[in-house]
Amino acid sequence: MPKQHGTLYIVATPIGNLADLSIRAIQILQQVELICAEDTRHAHTLLQHHGINTHCSSLHQHNEAQAAQGIINKILQGASIAIISDAGTPLISDPGMPLVTLAHASGIDVSPIPGACALIAALSASGLPVTPFTFLGFIPRTSNARQSLFKTKQHATETWVFYESCHRIKHCLTDLAAILPGNRQVVIAREITKLHETIIKASLTDILHLVEQDNNMQRGEFVVLIAGDTIEKKPTTLTEQQQDILVTLLKECSIKTAVSLAADITKVRKKLLYQAALDLSSP
Ligand code: SAM
Repeated sequence: MPKQHGTLYIVATPIGNLADLSIRAIQILQQVELICAEDTRHAHTLLQHHGINTHCSSLHQHNEAQAAQGIINKILQGASIAIISDAGTPLISDPGMPLVTLAHASGIDVSPIPGACALIAALSASGLPVTPFTFLGFIPRTSNARQSLFKTKQHATETWVFYESCHRIKHCLTDLAAILPGNRQVVIAREITKLHETIIKASLTDILHLVEQDNNMQRGEFVVLIAGDTIEKKPTTLTEQQQDILVTLLKECSIKTAVSLAADITKVRKKLLYQAALDLSSP
């Protein structure tokens, strides 16, 4: 009789508080033949804390493509194997994709052991609409690339979420403020489940101000959530000040340039500015 395949378990681990490991996760991590961990030294802290002595090998972004076939072969021969990342759910901005893809292609059962995930924890506490939402993972590191990305998302109506490092959080919010209106609702979820957990929901202007003023708000790990652009709230007329800006620009430039500059200055939709410019220019 052919030997039964083992199972590949995708085990979520805590994102800060070591107690956030489920009973089933502990059982599975004790039962499997091997735990593939993103960083074995990091894994040992968690495993020791929970009295788990299973053998660990490393599976990280630099070796996973090569290591995947060897792990799959072991599972095909009957071993059950778990993968864990340094924190949270594997594959969510973490290693594991080549292995899971290969497991499916090899007819191996892939079983998730759900638990902590910074994205879901932040979303659940954000007070922003959760369906639909878009997860962008880590966003680009350079200002130009970030702003280009934000431009593609500025009129998205769903909540959008991304991971950002403490080194770039201030620059990231500054870039956001260059593209989105200052009154857009933003949530930053910092150090979730840890001592300095901070979840703040406020306007983009206020959040940027807070992060600029308080160095503590530039420390730790961050999830950033942006409220979608609400169509109902889109203005259908210009304010007096916006109209004055447009009138001034129309005196100096073509309609196209005036509208483009006015959009940059006021953050009002170009379509609305065009209509106003045409109305203002018609005799
Ligand atoms: N797989 C993980 C998960 O399920 O959330 C994410 C791993 S990714 C390499 C690490 C990033 O997740 C951090 O830079 C931060 O943006 C976010 N993150 C992880 N733990 C967090 C926490 N406790 N609080 C806030 N953000 C966290």
